[in-house]
Amino acid sequence: MTIAFIGLGSNIKLPKQQIKSAIKSIEGIALTQVLKVSSLYKSKPIGPQNQNDYINAVAKIDTDLMPLELLECMQDIENQQGRIRKEHWGPRTLDLDILMFGEEIIKDDKLTIPHAEIENRSFVLAPLAEIDPNCLIPDKGMARDLLAIIGQEDLEIIR
Ligand code: ATP
Ligand code: CA
Ligand code: CA
Repeated sequence: MTIAFIGLGSNIKLPKQQIKSAIKSIEGIALTQVLKVSSLYKSKPIGPQNQNDYINAVAKIDTDLMPLELLECMQDIENQQGRIRKEHWGPRTLDLDILMFGEEIIKDDKLTIPHAEIENRSFVLAPLAEIDPNCLIPDKGMARDLLAIIGQEDLEIIR
């Protein structure tokens, strides 16, 4: 079993429901259990600014899948929820990123783990630190320390 963290994001077609429905689908993946889900966070878009704010969350899972198998499952769920790939960082019904996979460091064509932008994104670090206060990101540092560096004034917790 490997503990992994998934970052979820959505900014069109009822984002909160997209996140909820994605969690259900993740619970349905073979050899995989959802252990914890963070609060929802509202964040400003990265990249093109002429799009809605995002709703983000992080899920802690354990899985017996290999990293690339997990990535494939994530992409299947994105596709089931109508993800259309147009412009880079453009609006999407659902984005599922593998943030961490155990202590692994992977730099492959299809997969970079820990996620390449993890330390620059409060909408990832805040929910990570919320569900796992001592979360240590391989090669990068403690989620809460990285969050303290960039701050989270740009985030709104949705209760
Ligand atoms: P960003 O990666 O900056 O968050 P994005 O999520 O919008 O941007 P996508 O279009 O969803 O990017 O994904 C592009 C590709 O990124 C995917 O096809 C996948 O192969 C690759 N990728 C690399 N590392 C990861 C990871 N840790 N989790 C998910 N996808 C990844
Ligand atoms: Ca992403
Ligand atoms: Ca993605």
